[in-house]
Amino acid sequence: MKAREIHLQSRPVGLPAAENFTLVEVDARAPQPGEVQVRNLWMSVDPYMRGRMYDRPSYVPPFQLGEALQGHAIGEVIASADDGFAAGDLVSSMWGWRDGFTAPAKTLEKLPRLEGVPVQAFLGVLGMPGLTAYTGLLEIGQPKAGETVFVSGGAGAVGSVVAQIAKIKGCTVVATAGSDAKCDWLRSVGVDHAINYKSGDLLGAVRAAAPQGIDVYFDNVGGEHLEVAIEVARGGARFAECGMISGYNATEPTPGPRNIMMVVGKSLKIQGFIVSNYGHLRPQFITDMSGWIAQGQVKWEETVLDGIEAAPDAFLNLFTGGNTGKMLVKL
Ligand code: NDP
Repeated sequence: MKAREIHLQSRPVGLPAAENFTLVEVDARAPQPGEVQVRNLWMSVDPYMRGRMYDRPSYVPPFQLGEALQGHAIGEVIASADDGFAAGDLVSSMWGWRDGFTAPAKTLEKLPRLEGVPVQAFLGVLGMPGLTAYTGLLEIGQPKAGETVFVSGGAGAVGSVVAQIAKIKGCTVVATAGSDAKCDWLRSVGVDHAINYKSGDLLGAVRAAAPQGIDVYFDNVGGEHLEVAIEVARGGARFAECGMISGYNATEPTPGPRNIMMVVGKSLKIQGFIVSNYGHLRPQFITDMSGWIAQGQVKWEETVLDGIEAAPDAFLNLFTGGNTGKMLVKL
C-alpha cells in the first residue's frame, strides 16, 4: 500500500511555515505477524507539537528531522496479522501526520462506534483534549457551584470543554477568544461572559465580567492572560496551568507575570499538569462525557481541512486562531 506522510524538513524558528514540512510518499509494507495495516480517516494537530519541533529535552522527545511527525489519529484496519484486530476495526493511534501505515498491533487501540457520535470526536471532546479539560478543571481547579471560572483560549478544543464542564458544575464562566464570532459561539453554549481579547483592555473586561474576582483560572494562553488572572484572583484561587500558547513561537524568553508577588498575599495555588499523567481518569471521563453529550450538555465545533497535504496548514492555523473548536484533518 502506498501512504503519504508529512516529514519535518527543518526546525521552525518563530512561527512555523510551510517550508518546515514536506510531503513524502512511502510504501506501507504488508503486515507481518503481530502487525496491522491501517488507513487513517482523521488526524489531529495540537499546539503541544510545536514543543516537539525544538531539539531540546521535554516530557516528550523531539521530532526528528527527515522523519514523519507523530500525533493522534483515527483509522480503519485494512489488513491484520494479529488476532486482536480485523479488517474494518476502528482504531486510535499515535501514527498521525500520514494517511496510512503498518505498525505493531500493540500501538493501536480499538475504538467503539458510538451511535450519534462521529468517530473524530475521539480526537476532540472524547479524546485527549476532552480529558485535558476534565482533568485540569476538576482535579486541579476543583470548582464548586457558585464559583467563577475564567478560561483563556475558550473557543478552542480544550477551552470550550472546560467552559461547558464548569457550567455543568454550577459555576459562572468567563472565557476569552480571539474573535467576535468565537465569542458568539461561546455564548450559544452557555458561557456567561465571552470576551474578545483582541478588542483591547483585557484586564478591564475581565474585571467587569467578574467584579467579585475569579476562583479558578484555566490557563491555555499564558502571557498577559496569566497576569490578568492573577490580578483578578480571589484569595485561595486555583490555577490549572494547561498551556501557554502565546509563548510557543517566542524566540526570546517570555517575561513572567509582573504581578507574580500577588500569589503570596492571595494564597494562590498554581499547578501545571500533563494529561498523560492522568490516564487513570479516562474511564470515568468517558462515562461522564458520553452522558453529558447524550444530554446535550456538552457541544463542540470542528474546523476541518481536507487531505494529508493540508496538515501543515491546519497546524499553522492553531497559532493564528484559524480554528473554532477542534482543528482536524480529514484524510
Ligand atoms: P486550541 O483548539 O485552543 O487552538 C489554539 C488556539 O489558541 C487558537 O485557536 C487561538 O485562538 C489561540 N491562540 C493562539 N495564539 C494565541 C496567542 N498568542 N494568544 C492567545 N490565544 C492564542 O488548542 P487546544 O485546545 O488543543 O490546546 C489549548 C491549550 O492547551 C494549548 O496551550 C495546549 O498546549 C494546551 N494543552 C495542554 C495539555 C496538557 O496536558 N497540559 C494537553 C492538551 C493541550 P484565539 O482565536 O482565541 O486566539
